[in-house]
Amino acid sequence: MIRRVLERTFGYSGFRGQQEEVIRHTVDGGDCLVLMPTGGGKSLCYQIPGIVREGTGVVVSPLIALMRDQVEALRQLGVRAAGLNSSLSYREVLEAEAAVRAGRLDLLYVAPERLLGERTLNLLAEARLSLFAIDEAHCVSQWGHDFRPEYLQLSALRDHFPDVPRIALTATADELTRREIVDRLGLRGAPVFVSGFDRPNIRYSVVPKNNARAQFRGFLDRHHRGDAGIVYCLSRKKVDATAEWLQGEGVDALPYHAGLGAAERRRNQDRFQRDEGVVMVATIAFGMGIDKSNVRFVAHLDLPKSIEAYYQETGRGGRDGLPASAWMVYGLQEVVTLRSMVEGSDAGEARKRLEVRKLDAMLGYCELTTCRRQTLLAYFGETHPEPCGNCDNCLTPVDSWDATEASQKAMSCVYRTGQRFGAAYLIDVLRGRETDRIQRFGHDRIPTHGVGADLSAYEWRSVFRQLVARGLLWVDMEGFGSIRLTDESWPVLRGEMHVHMRRDVRPPAAARKRKPRAEQPPPDPATWDEGLWEALRAHRLELARAQGVPPYVIFHDATLREMVERRPGTPEELAGITGVGETKLERYGEDFLGVIAKAERGSG
Ligand code: ADP
Ligand code: ZN
Repeated sequence: MIRRVLERTFGYSGFRGQQEEVIRHTVDGGDCLVLMPTGGGKSLCYQIPGIVREGTGVVVSPLIALMRDQVEALRQLGVRAAGLNSSLSYREVLEAEAAVRAGRLDLLYVAPERLLGERTLNLLAEARLSLFAIDEAHCVSQWGHDFRPEYLQLSALRDHFPDVPRIALTATADELTRREIVDRLGLRGAPVFVSGFDRPNIRYSVVPKNNARAQFRGFLDRHHRGDAGIVYCLSRKKVDATAEWLQGEGVDALPYHAGLGAAERRRNQDRFQRDEGVVMVATIAFGMGIDKSNVRFVAHLDLPKSIEAYYQETGRGGRDGLPASAWMVYGLQEVVTLRSMVEGSDAGEARKRLEVRKLDAMLGYCELTTCRRQTLLAYFGETHPEPCGNCDNCLTPVDSWDATEASQKAMSCVYRTGQRFGAAYLIDVLRGRETDRIQRFGHDRIPTHGVGADLSAYEWRSVFRQLVARGLLWVDMEGFGSIRLTDESWPVLRGEMHVHMRRDVRPPAAARKRKPRAEQPPPDPATWDEGLWEALRAHRLELARAQGVPPYVIFHDATLREMVERRPGTPEELAGITGVGETKLERYGEDFLGVIAKAERGSG
């Protein structure tokens, strides 16, 4: 039964990871917690049980704008779905409610704050319910990185509907968060289904900052011209400035942050979802539940606060399984800003310690010289036996070097200049420059003046960044960014501790002019037909526009790509393509077969 739904309704040929186990367990009426990486296929885990079990499945999902698209995507598949949220007209609400009462609905999406309102509770009490699915369940955890107070009320579900199975789903949850979810949602004897967290199609890279904009521009040009992507920045101001700059560079970029009006946010989000090739420049306010499967890159121009956040944000790339990039640029300034934000926050001591620990793990990740995927997965308690071959460190191995002596020089320079200066000044002293300022302070006469002439300014920046990242030096934000020693500095200064660092290699100035290297495995030239690809995409966009839905709701990129490669000529052949289920075959089969046939004639 569940296989039939998978094949006929969704058009997929097999389950991924643990989907089948989860679905069987849920269809049988059990509670469970599902941990799957973004793009792992969580939705199917409750959608199929919602379709198969008698009654309506209630899906709690935090973002209204996305709810709409999810409901639309289900309807396109021929599934009876509706949403209940504040963006609906009164008539639409009445319609949805009537459908629930009449048992005419497989899935009902509800915003968390609405779920426990009296009206909805009454409605659900009258209806026959098949399950509750709580998406983004980590929002219930106060220790998680994305706590939402309205999620706390969900504990009441257990009291109101003790017999309806509950399935909680999330992409990120460490041990503590998991326990909190099970506890708060009252999941009874619930197994935890943990899927592999690996996202093999995502390529991770972190580049030391030199000129962030030029570096990002180079990355776009080389690998992602015209692609849809997300660019994360820490502040609203930087989001606005970056979006404006990109627009000036001819990139179809839009800003998104909590400071924009609701209408503009919604408009930008809609464009991102619906059009091809939009680059969204955003704060972390953007992204939860984003259901765009062909995001080809996620770029961080500022550091995330934790590996969980980083993994979740980068996980928004490549949900269709095609190659995607997670790219980050990072420098001393970012370390300093984040450290001071975390240290200066007015959270309680325990919370602060936790945040510092998370940030340290994140910084450690940035400075890795070994496989990034192995470290990421290890963080989530998983082992990846071999280096992955699809991260920057695997593709271009980095050297590490014994930087003990350089660290001592840097530290003693900090000490001898009175712990009052920032990195740029200290580097000038180390390299023996004789600026007015250095002379004025008499720092051209101290023993550390000129002891670092053997390293370039670029190399010294790398040294300072890595020392601060590891807590071997500290930057005092209240002292205008002056660098100070820490307790950890002394063992290094005394020669009791060795320091190994990654050797950052300055990219050659001509790097941008080099022949572009294709990052995505190119389609097979023997079967690839760019003209057909464009024609299929154009046709999809036309259909999508006509219905006011995002293109991927009609067919995913991966489905179109398979059409180009296999060139189906009959409805049966078309049905064999991933993502073509019965309803879509009926609705769009003839159309797309027509586009393919026309291309055949054109090329034959
Ligand atoms: P998540 O919610 O875990 O981030 P989704 O449920 O949105 O992931 O699924 C990610 C993508 O994978 C979607 O495009 C979905 O259609 C596709 N998908 C999910 N399960 C399968 C499957 N068994 N076979 C093929 N594609 C799948
Ligand atoms: Zn690797």
